[in-house]
Amino acid sequence: MTLRTRYSQVISQIKQAQLEFNRPTASIQLLAVSKTWPASRLRELAELGQTDFGENYLQEALEKIEQLKALKLIWHFIGPIQSNKTRAIAENFDWVHSVDRVKIAQRLSAQRSENKPDLNICIQINIDNEGTKSGISENELMQLAHEVEALPKLKLRGIMIIPAKTSRIADQRASFQHAKQLFEQLAKTFPDIDTLSMGMSADMATAIAEGSTLVRIGSALFGQRATPNKTGQVN
Ligand SMILES: *Cc1c(COP(=O)(O)O)cnc(C)c1O
Repeated sequence: MTLRTRYSQVISQIKQAQLEFNRPTASIQLLAVSKTWPASRLRELAELGQTDFGENYLQEALEKIEQLKALKLIWHFIGPIQSNKTRAIAENFDWVHSVDRVKIAQRLSAQRSENKPDLNICIQINIDNEGTKSGISENELMQLAHEVEALPKLKLRGIMIIPAKTSRIADQRASFQHAKQLFEQLAKTFPDIDTLSMGMSADMATAIAEGSTLVRIGSALFGQRATPNKTGQVN
């Protein structure tokens, strides 16, 4: 299947879920998660109209951002953040979905250049309290949100979650519903937030049903991230 075919399939699945679950028209944004794929694949997708790309690995992302800078794409950092990486993130990305401690937010704020627009921030919540996963627990959310909001050059946009791996749709649905509740609570204090970043290739429709405003889609667009993908071949 070609990238073009996959792209139009994903777009029509989003539209279909939007309709089926009574979500407003054009209320769900597609973030193309392009980790491991070469710049040529991203360029192909950009030529089909995709503007927003998500990357997890800084070094790899910086190379692609440089190679594709003429295209004026919108770059989202979605991976775990080490504090020695914040400068490059603040200088090269438009969004960060994975902020989960105040120290990271402070560094991003201080390192964002004065002549750039505010860096858009989502706070990552460890929604299923998994020991190994990034993200804060829900009872830390309000405090971190206030801290982000108070920092210059950052704009709080919402929250990001990755539910625990499970094959049970009901469990996923519960995680998404929980995230939606937290999002709505947060919006009472911060009425400008607009982003509930949840849903990946395997659970996109459920996430949309439960209120996602931004789905992060990798393999359904680019194909499986198998190891011998250096050629960027999509089957
Ligand atoms: C890799 C990744 C995705 C995309 O996953 P797919 O299953 O390939 O759609 C989404 N979000 C995050 C945080 C990721 O690391």
